[in-house]
Amino acid sequence: MGSGFALRDEQAVGNYGKAMDDIAERSGVTRGDATPPASARRRVVIIGAGFGGLSAAQRLVRVAADIIVIDRRNHHLFQPLLYQVATAALSPADIAAPIRGILSRHPNTEVILGTVTGIDVAGRVVLLGDRRVPYDQLVIGTGAREYYFGHDEWSAVTSGLKSIEDATAMRRRILVAFERAEDSEDGAEQRRLLTFVIIGGGPTGVELAGALAELAKAALARDFRHIDPSTARIVLVEAGPRLLPSFSPHLSEAAARALQRLGVEVRLGLAVTHCDQEGAVFGDERVESRTLIWAAGVAASPAAAWLGIEAGRGGRAPVLSDLTLRGHPEIFVIGDAAEVVGTNRPIPGVAPVAKQQGAYVARVIAARLAGKPAPAPFRYRDYGNLATIGRHEAVADFGWLRLTGRLAWLAWGVAHIYFLIGFRNRAAVAIDWLWSYLTYQRGARLITGQDM
Ligand SMILES: Cc1cc2nc3c(=O)[nH]c(=O)nc-3n(C[C@H](O)[C@H](O)[C@H](O)COP(=O)(O)OP(=O)(O)OC[C@H]3O[C@@H](n4cnc5c(N)ncnc54)[C@H](O)[C@@H]3O)c2cc1C
Repeated sequence: MGSGFALRDEQAVGNYGKAMDDIAERSGVTRGDATPPASARRRVVIIGAGFGGLSAAQRLVRVAADIIVIDRRNHHLFQPLLYQVATAALSPADIAAPIRGILSRHPNTEVILGTVTGIDVAGRVVLLGDRRVPYDQLVIGTGAREYYFGHDEWSAVTSGLKSIEDATAMRRRILVAFERAEDSEDGAEQRRLLTFVIIGGGPTGVELAGALAELAKAALARDFRHIDPSTARIVLVEAGPRLLPSFSPHLSEAAARALQRLGVEVRLGLAVTHCDQEGAVFGDERVESRTLIWAAGVAASPAAAWLGIEAGRGGRAPVLSDLTLRGHPEIFVIGDAAEVVGTNRPIPGVAPVAKQQGAYVARVIAARLAGKPAPAPFRYRDYGNLATIGRHEAVADFGWLRLTGRLAWLAWGVAHIYFLIGFRNRAAVAIDWLWSYLTYQRGARLITGQDM
């Protein structure tokens, strides 16, 4: 850790008050062999370098404390563009960046690659298997995982989309389906292989359906000799009455129409009741398909279980309006893992919420370390929702302004390039998109990993 922060730290300790000193001592007792003895310097541990955790870490660069960022992956992932990796438009490295690289100019910050398995709340220690990482203040931003509405067995027969591995597995599954169809002489199996069912009509399902339709009808159209990829059937199933429930009804209808123009079959008001290797059942219909894509439900990571508290909506850990756990002002939970209790409307599980919450807790922590008053409670500023449908269409809902078509698509593209982390990723994505736009081709049509 940079010693340049030591002097400021001493001052901060004085301001911060003696109440924290016993914690440092306790930290020394509980920490593992590899960790140096406790010092007066405070330790802020951030679990998860997703949108929330990274936003907090980036804003703590100047505080007089040791910042420890723990993630089970070595990269920060821009999840909103995962579907483009899954449909061969972008490569994994275009939408991910190494956490160490992002934080390399933060001398007060250390990165640990490891999977958190629990938290000793009383001892103020994060557990990574046998390894113990003590904290004075803890920020939990571990995001969400897939949720199958009590049918965990569906995870084995559907493809989810949460990580780079998921996206490349989905890409493999989609591309292999076309390859197998080309080779098959069984008409029924060929139809099954060329039918893709996407479960869930939120932004991920809608964007996937549009991208998959364009992959089949444009990028692959001339590459096979025994099948016509443009006859591929893409079915988007949504249990609710409309697509994109977080958008205005007018934009939901525009999205459905845009998808139908691309040949996607949109099925609304139908909950999936069964999934297996050869298809899915919704309503009283069974659709035969070798590729079922899960874009329906998410549940929070197990932060609530680690903290020994009852989980709230969607498995989220309930936190107060300053994003701390009741009775534990030293523990913050942010992003998809958190539920802010006492708000009129539930705060959505989207990247801007996580980023704003990360920035907010960094302000609270910095104020505490400097002995300043706490900032006002967290308030989410909603700047709007965007979803794209193929290469020309998108819907944008800014509340005061609603856009469809090319203008919305342009707004979507600019926003996504702007919010990507790092110049290299922005440049790579912009070039890939321009190339795809001009040629209709997909630059990342690689089948990698194990066949399925
Ligand atoms: C396919 C997809 C598309 C999306 N599209 C959009 C969109 O268009 N717009 C939008 O605003 N939002 C979108 N979202 C939602 C958005 O990505 C999330 O709301 C946001 O990522 C939440 O941020 P977070 O910091 O809470 O969690 P995440 O960004 O998910 O980060 C969690 C981090 O915690 C780490 N972690 C988890 N468990 C552990 C553990 N046990 N130990 C160590 N590390 C751990 C993970 O590796 C990860 O780095 C999309 C999500 C998905 C999956």
